[in-house]
Amino acid sequence: MNSARLVEKPLLRVKGLKKIFPVKEGILSKRKGYVYAVDGVSFDIKRGETLGLVGESGCGKTTTGKTILRLIEPTDGSIEFEGVDICTLRSDDMRRLRSKMQIIFQDPYSSLNPRMTVGSIVSEPLDIHKVAKGSDKEERVVSIFKRVGLKTEDMRRYPYQLSGGERQRVGIARAIILSPDLIVGDEPVSALDASIQAQVINLLEDLQEEFHLSYLIISHDLSLIEHMSDRVAVMYLGKLVEIGDSNKLYAFPQHPYTEALLSAVPLPDPTTRREKIILKGDPPSPINPPSGCYFHTRCPYKFDDCKIIEPTLKEVNSGHFVACHLR
Ligand code: SF4
Repeated sequence: MNSARLVEKPLLRVKGLKKIFPVKEGILSKRKGYVYAVDGVSFDIKRGETLGLVGESGCGKTTTGKTILRLIEPTDGSIEFEGVDICTLRSDDMRRLRSKMQIIFQDPYSSLNPRMTVGSIVSEPLDIHKVAKGSDKEERVVSIFKRVGLKTEDMRRYPYQLSGGERQRVGIARAIILSPDLIVGDEPVSALDASIQAQVINLLEDLQEEFHLSYLIISHDLSLIEHMSDRVAVMYLGKLVEIGDSNKLYAFPQHPYTEALLSAVPLPDPTTRREKIILKGDPPSPINPPSGCYFHTRCPYKFDDCKIIEPTLKEVNSGHFVACHLR
C-alpha cells in the first residue's frame, strides 16, 4: 500500500472512455452488431498510486488497459496524461509519450520476440527512442538486468532459454528501462507459479517505491488486487460499477456484484467466514446487453426499476462511487 506517497493531481485521467468493436459475419462481412467492450469508463490514477481493475473474464479490463495506451484506438472519451489529451496526439508525439506509459503482459513468452536475445529485447526501447547508445546503452541494460534480478550473462540468451519468472523479469526490465511514469500490468503474474508470483509482486512493489511509478493492475485475482492496490475499480460488462479505496471496498463492498465477487475470497482470519454468494448464469453478451442495470439479470436484489433505469456512479462515501439504485 502506498497511500502515504499520494499527491492530489492525477497523472492519468480517463473520462467517458468507450471502445466499440463492430461484429461482422458472412463472406461479405456484413455488420451484425457492435460489442460495447468499454462503455463510458472514467477514473483517475495519481502519481505513485496503484489502481486495481478487477472483474470477470471478458468484462473489458484488458481492452481498457490497451486503449489507455492507445495500443487500441478509443471510440470515444478522453485520456489525459499529465494534463494532455493523448487521443489528440499525432503518431510521432504519441510515440514520444509512450516512453512514459508502458505495459507488462500476462504471457511474457508470446510478448517477447523469440528471434532476439533478451539483452536486445530490453535495449530495443533505447534504440527506438534514441535515448542511449554505445557504452551508455550497455551500462543501462546491465544495470536494469541487475535491478530486476537477472544475471548479466542472461543478456545473451533467448526467451525460450529462460524460465517463466525470468521471462517476466525481462518484460519488466523492458517496461522500466525508459523510466516511465505509468505501467499497465495486464494479469502480470497470473501465468507464473505461486512462489514465483510472490517474488515478481515484491519486485513490482520495490520498483514502484524506487521510481515512484503509478500502476494500473488488471487482474481477475481478487487477492492480488487487494494486496497491490491503493484503490480498486470493479468492472462489469464494459462499465465500472464500483470504485474506491481498497481497504474500504474490500471490507464493505457496496455493489451487489462486488459483494458476490468478494464473497469467494478467503478471509485472512481462518476462524471467520463470509457467506459465499453464487451468481446465477454467465455474464450477458456485450453485443446485446440487458436494459437498465446491466447486472439485473444476475442480481439477487433486483427490483422493477433495475430493468428500466440504468444506474450511474454516485459517491456514497468520500471517494467511493457505486452504480446501484440501492445506494
Ligand atoms: Fe442490482 Fe438493481 Fe443495484 Fe443493479 S441497480 S445492482 S439490479 S439492485
